Amino acid sequence: MASLDLSGRHVLVVGVGVAGASATRALVARGAEVLLTATTEGAAVTELVEAGASWLGPLDALPPSVDLVVASPGVPPTDAVLVDAAARDVEVWGEVELAWRLRADGAAPWLALTGTNGKTTTVHMLEAVLRAAGHRAVAVGNVGVPLIDAVLADPPYDVLAVELSSQQLHFAPSVAPAAGALLNLAPDHLNWHGSYEAYEDAKTTIWRGEVAIGNVDDVRVAARLPEGAVTTTLGEPGVGQLGVRDGRLVSRAFGDDSLDLLAAAEVRPPGRHNVANALIAAAIARAIDTPARAVAEGLRAFEPDPHRNQAVLERDGVTWVDDSKATNPHAAAASLSAYPRIVWVAGGQLKGVDVDPLVAACADRLAGAVLLGQDRELVRAALARHAPDLPVIMVDRNDDGAMTAAVRAAADLARPGDTVLLAPAAASYDMFTGFAARGDAFAAAARALGPDVPR
Ligand code: ADP
Repeated sequence: MASLDLSGRHVLVVGVGVAGASATRALVARGAEVLLTATTEGAAVTELVEAGASWLGPLDALPPSVDLVVASPGVPPTDAVLVDAAARDVEVWGEVELAWRLRADGAAPWLALTGTNGKTTTVHMLEAVLRAAGHRAVAVGNVGVPLIDAVLADPPYDVLAVELSSQQLHFAPSVAPAAGALLNLAPDHLNWHGSYEAYEDAKTTIWRGEVAIGNVDDVRVAARLPEGAVTTTLGEPGVGQLGVRDGRLVSRAFGDDSLDLLAAAEVRPPGRHNVANALIAAAIARAIDTPARAVAEGLRAFEPDPHRNQAVLERDGVTWVDDSKATNPHAAAASLSAYPRIVWVAGGQLKGVDVDPLVAACADRLAGAVLLGQDRELVRAALARHAPDLPVIMVDRNDDGAMTAAVRAAADLARPGDTVLLAPAAASYDMFTGFAARGDAFAAAARALGPDVPR
């Protein structure tokens, strides 16, 4: 039983989705008086009220009796209730902080990671490795079951592989994972955090625990690494590092004397960024003494998540790749560097991030570009600066047929040997319900191309 006692506390839960509902149940069970607020009344409210919580409806100020706020993922710090809480010095915990405090004595260690890109891929690599080592392990955080449910699971897990976003870390003031790793840093979610500095500060709290791990090839990560950190590199590893030697992943950290793990070519999905992800997963696993055999077995068994550099079709010598999850320029840069000649399908919501450096870096690999979505003009302007002769097709419609039009245009531009790559560098919400729907639309349209596609 967790020791957290909240009797007598008046807790306001903001947001009643899956995580907010889990939080409410746990808080009620620990004696708190729980008040609920959300912009709309979610499906769980009736059940939560029956369990003892009170539904207040939407609020624009903190009720006077409240002495703790639990915020659901997605609630920004600019939310009126949270602003009010900050002004009145009332503590705000995210779901992650609450889960951390609910851990029983001897609870499963948290092996945590964050980064601008590659979190879900890496946390699933880590989960596969931990399972190959025989642990009862699960990937949680931004993925799968709510963290609170994983912490309270019966029977308990041996170890948790935890993916944490910058937003989750922002509201997790005391979380100190047994091992914490930072994959990379690039501007993203600037609207949510208010500034790049605030975003980076949130990310680097992943290192608050005992073992700090970071990808030293990333200059922004390197600049923030704490003393004694274990680092990863795609280059030859020095002492205290995991890296790549003669095409093989090798550990020289945690007392390892050049421990051989597996061939870099065995890492999936393809691309140097995924080797970097695998090195972080391996480093975290080695932090708890996971044998090399399990690291290799787990990485081989790892099933890549959909919409992340997923080859969806080969036709007439052209490979169609869905990297719809490349929702910012940093992610798109990784996949654009993984293929030699690309017809690039891009565009959507750039979220205030500058696309110019990405376009400058990848222009020489492009055979053509097809642009759609809200910020397509910004991408076109960057292409005009860095690749003025590149054939660019603009898809100006934004209805259900837009992706089909984009795919037909890409088919016109592609030649045998090319990769048509959906790596939008932008969020999808201007036209789709999310990155998965965007990727599905791309794959479906590519599969539906008839043999009569003009070449
Ligand atoms: P996250 O959970 O951080 O969004 P994902 O594993 O879902 O990360 O990958 C999102 C996208 O980021 C991928 O589709 C790929 O384009 C890109 N990506 C993956 N790993 C990296 C990395 N290490 N560096 C840069 N980009 C990456």
